[in-house]
Amino acid sequence: MSSNDSIKIVWIYPDLLSTYGDQGNTIVLERRAGLRGISTRTVHVRSDQTVPVDGDIYLLGGGEDRPQILAARRLAGDGALHRARDYGAVIFAVCAGYQLLGTEFGGEEGQLVEGLGLLDYSSGRGERRAVGEIVGDVDPSLDVPRITGFENHQGVTRLGPGVKPLAKTVVGIGNGNGYEGAYQDHVIGTYMHGPALVRNPGLADLLLRWALKRDDLPPLDDSWAGRLREERLRSVLT
Ligand code: GLN
Repeated sequence: MSSNDSIKIVWIYPDLLSTYGDQGNTIVLERRAGLRGISTRTVHVRSDQTVPVDGDIYLLGGGEDRPQILAARRLAGDGALHRARDYGAVIFAVCAGYQLLGTEFGGEEGQLVEGLGLLDYSSGRGERRAVGEIVGDVDPSLDVPRITGFENHQGVTRLGPGVKPLAKTVVGIGNGNGYEGAYQDHVIGTYMHGPALVRNPGLADLLLRWALKRDDLPPLDDSWAGRLREERLRSVLT
């Protein structure tokens, strides 16, 4: 923790990796912490700035192929994410951000681009773009309800032995082999793009619990998020 009673949220490269309303994830975390009397401080780190190493939660968003490649190069040169991961910081990465944390990913011409190698998976480019609703049953050890989101990507992601799938895909494509996303320690990557935490307050609370090193948090009134979840789940599961 950056201080006893405050969570420092670091939003990585809003100028490159924020194509799909990804700032929503910072707002959800700030709000859910604030309602429980926990203060947060959010730092926006543009790609021409250095990434601080004392963050509690790092957020990476989605992006087009070329900004994604640029972001991967700059983050590799910066090195802060590895250091933050090593001391146990929480990292939540969406879509392009998810792909670039792995060892390699597909560029705009299908060329393989080196990733950060922070997690043990690699992504190539599939034949068709995966676009649409995605639903998944989360690894039971994470104690998070079924996830629901929207995916829009061309990646096919193969997980290595050092990493676990985040969820078993119920609807949608995800990694392309019946599973969606990946996690290891306190790092999560997902193909649910944009403000994925809005529909998934349980996932937001998992990130907060990890950052606070707590097993549980006081419940909140999630009826609005619940209605949105029900509406989306009903539309794709019936
Ligand atoms: N450029 C990547 C792909 O198409 C990621 C896209 C995204 O972030 N939505 O696979």
